[in-house]
Amino acid sequence: MPALAQKRPRPGDKPTAARDNLRKLLLKWYDRHARDLPWRVRTGRPDPYRVWLSEIMLQQTTVAAVAPYFTRFLDRWPTVVALAAAPRNDLLGAWAGLGYYSRARNLHAAAQVMAAEGVPTSEAGWRALPGVGPYTAAAIAAIGFGEASNVVDGNVERVMARLYAVEAPLPNAKAELRELAGALVTADRPGDWAQALMDLGATVCTPRSPKCDVCPWSAECAAFASGAPETYPRRTAKAERPRRYGAAFRIEHDGQFWLVRRPDKGLLGGMAALPTTEWRAKKWSRADVLKHVPVAGDWKKTGAIEHVFTHFALTLDVYSADTAPPNDGWWGDASALPTVFKKAAQAGTKR
Ligand code: SF4
Repeated sequence: MPALAQKRPRPGDKPTAARDNLRKLLLKWYDRHARDLPWRVRTGRPDPYRVWLSEIMLQQTTVAAVAPYFTRFLDRWPTVVALAAAPRNDLLGAWAGLGYYSRARNLHAAAQVMAAEGVPTSEAGWRALPGVGPYTAAAIAAIGFGEASNVVDGNVERVMARLYAVEAPLPNAKAELRELAGALVTADRPGDWAQALMDLGATVCTPRSPKCDVCPWSAECAAFASGAPETYPRRTAKAERPRRYGAAFRIEHDGQFWLVRRPDKGLLGGMAALPTTEWRAKKWSRADVLKHVPVAGDWKKTGAIEHVFTHFALTLDVYSADTAPPNDGWWGDASALPTVFKKAAQAGTKR
């Protein structure tokens, strides 16, 4: 175990041997251990369309979940122009199951801007597109265009908090962690640097059990020196997620479900869905639910599902009926539904 904690760089510091050493160690490790990912190329620069598509899909989503979607999207829409020309509902259907559906709507909107105005070539240009936040713009600029951007997500924050044993808790420490990460960025191999940090955070410096024994930075890492690296980053206690309640209405015929399109604005906006009541803080009684059915029928409760969104947890009672469907909607397959409705469609039998 190292005896000394890593010395923290300060703003305006001249390039130091410590920084150069950290860079050399990590890039050498990356050259040997980089993950083989469908959107990654190991020589030259990747197509910015692929980088953008992968970075949008990877927001809040694991590599394993994204990989098959990425491949299907590229097969179906191989260029940004093809994606821009796709009917929006086709794109939303292809996104079903990946979650955070505003990403799909923004993806389509951004593709249309790029098809009309050209693909941005700078971090600032990407930042102006719908659905592209500071992290995504920095990642695309570094990986797709070789810009020396500071690419900081939760993984990088965790690695910095550990490397320098930052005692300030998240989320207050974010600015400090960003500054520490920025002090390690140079114009040399910025895309590889960003991806090396991502890989280190995803495969070695993992949240619960960092694998310090195989980490290229173990001799430099202050948290490792402390003996309890997994206790970094420090965190303030989290408020408990609120709970909401609702009911979904399931009309099934020959394995197909009666679907409606959700309003464009709001959660799961524009996605195909089962009809539902409003989702609210107060529980729904059966009598209350029956006042909100989409069409008259012999409605029976056939199950209930739980689903966790970013800002709340949902308990959704599932009601089913053998009845003619209402006027608005269409028959569709559960496989094209967002996960919460897929679960509801599969909850219980019809009766
Ligand atoms: Fe993370 Fe351990 Fe490496 Fe430090 S030594 S950066 S805690 S994996």
